[in-house]
Amino acid sequence: MSADFRADLLTSGLLVDSGVAGLYARSGTFEKVVRGLEDLVSSAGADQRAPVLHFPPVIPKVVLEQSGYPRSFPDLLGAVSVFEGDEELHRELLELLDQGQEWAGLLSSSQVTLSSAACHSLYGSLSGRLPAGGRRFEVFGHCFRNEPSLDPARMQAFRMHEFVYVGEPDGAVAHRDMWLERSADLLSSLGLPVETVVANDPFFGRAGRMLASNQRSEALKFEVVCPIQAGEPPTAVASSNYHVDHFGAAFAIESADGEVAHSACVGFGSERVTLALLATHGLEPARWSARVRDLLWP
Ligand SMILES: [Zn+2]
Repeated sequence: MSADFRADLLTSGLLVDSGVAGLYARSGTFEKVVRGLEDLVSSAGADQRAPVLHFPPVIPKVVLEQSGYPRSFPDLLGAVSVFEGDEELHRELLELLDQGQEWAGLLSSSQVTLSSAACHSLYGSLSGRLPAGGRRFEVFGHCFRNEPSLDPARMQAFRMHEFVYVGEPDGAVAHRDMWLERSADLLSSLGLPVETVVANDPFFGRAGRMLASNQRSEALKFEVVCPIQAGEPPTAVASSNYHVDHFGAAFAIESADGEVAHSACVGFGSERVTLALLATHGLEPARWSARVRDLLWP
């Protein structure tokens, strides 16, 4: 593992810098690893018989509000602003552009925001009563987090691949526990030196610190972590979360017995797992061991 992994990724062309911290183009080779990984994760969850949903990078603003994200993570979210002015406002816009001044203040907020987690887009469609045993979904989504960083594993725009359960409490806990083990096994099988740790979400502010400490003491969130950058603490490449009744209450979802539904999700960070593979096995996937290549590209 190199001392400057980011520089190696850029030199090799696996990532192309956009000029904004944490925003990159990915090469065809990088994407081939992402696709292999997506297929491997999908086949690991084939027994779930979960319908597949691919979500766009934007989410209705009302759904983001319902999810509670703006209350708990205001510092990480992003909203989409659009131009809704007349020709006079356009002239103002042109002037600001010509003067090289900030112009986005002339825009209005739209009905969409950037998606923060792939599973947030799912819950709105599940309002009402679920069948006995709950429902499972496999979801893919683009996510945004406002945390510009030079750490290549902390991108502003990235993808998540999740398996979500919504239904009874014991079903949600079982889903979380089963996927914690299964995700750690899957990543170990790829030769990644992973560990499983109790974790918390980065809730904002003083009230957030209490939420984070409750999440830890109740062991609701686990992460599978892996070293990516030499000299830095290991990075979460997957996480397995029990949301209790948070989304069930927010989106009026009931389990078959009429109680507020509980939910759980496992999420794989597609870019982060790919970076962990590149850091562990080298920057040329064609030269990775036959064992790893056969798993990714059978
Ligand atoms: Zn999720």
